[in-house]
Amino acid sequence: MKIKKALELGVKRLKEAGIKTPVTDTHLIMSKVLGVPRWKIIVEKDKEISPEKRKRFFSLIEKRAERYPLGYILGEKEFFNIKLKVEEGVLIPRPETEILVEEVLKRIPENEKRTGLEIGVGSGAISIALLKNRKKLIMYGVDISDKALQISALNAKINGVLDRFLLLKSNLFEKVPDIKFDFIVSNPPYISEEEYRELEEEVKKEPYEALVSGKEGTEFYEKIVKGGKKFLKEKGFFAFEIGWKQAQAVRYILENEGFKVSVIKDLQGHDRVIIGERQ
Ligand code: GLN
Repeated sequence: MKIKKALELGVKRLKEAGIKTPVTDTHLIMSKVLGVPRWKIIVEKDKEISPEKRKRFFSLIEKRAERYPLGYILGEKEFFNIKLKVEEGVLIPRPETEILVEEVLKRIPENEKRTGLEIGVGSGAISIALLKNRKKLIMYGVDISDKALQISALNAKINGVLDRFLLLKSNLFEKVPDIKFDFIVSNPPYISEEEYRELEEEVKKEPYEALVSGKEGTEFYEKIVKGGKKFLKEKGFFAFEIGWKQAQAVRYILENEGFKVSVIKDLQGHDRVIIGERQ
């Protein structure tokens, strides 16, 4: 079978299955199977695909058709121009989270020493993006999941920032050393139990603990602000990703503790990031 034919059948199968981006997904899966960059597939499409690779290609297409997340199939995801390994057990970084990284970067001068703390590193996306863009930054990162710590250390190593990324297994601030940070950043679980039931099947293949936060979805913000304020320097700030309906609730939590709040919208015009700065 020619590569071209396999691609056609792949796209057809994913379309039938209702996958929103059948062409992109099929090409990326082929690129993984052949071990060549995506652009090269188009050039090589009149070549034959070997029987083993064909088998592997169609088995991955089938997985995708059954709503297995593309990030887990490919084993990697691009975030803020950085390649990150992802696998089952860690949240696949979302493009919206890049806004959180941008807002934090705006508040870290290029050539000054700063120390930040991330609660819930997952794949390491946020901290690694910050570290790559600020050479004098040091990040502490905690997660309760061993898998997340293992993947984020691997990603930090691949991206050459492991020497400035201190990873700790900790439930929130439990094991965080008694030092003061310039900022605390987090993209905590923020979906309510009720919203979880409505989620698409493929999102449900990602870790429940990375997505859901109690009845209202705002429990983690409260815990992070209350538990974290003593770890912040006098001029320190909190930076969170939020669900699009949560700005008011999180604003209230931050203002209650004396922080000045700014809310930043995503490209869809939804509230997505909230910053709490000391007055
Ligand atoms: N910090 C990671 C991310 O933003 C993980 C977040 C999470 O698992 N809730 O991708």
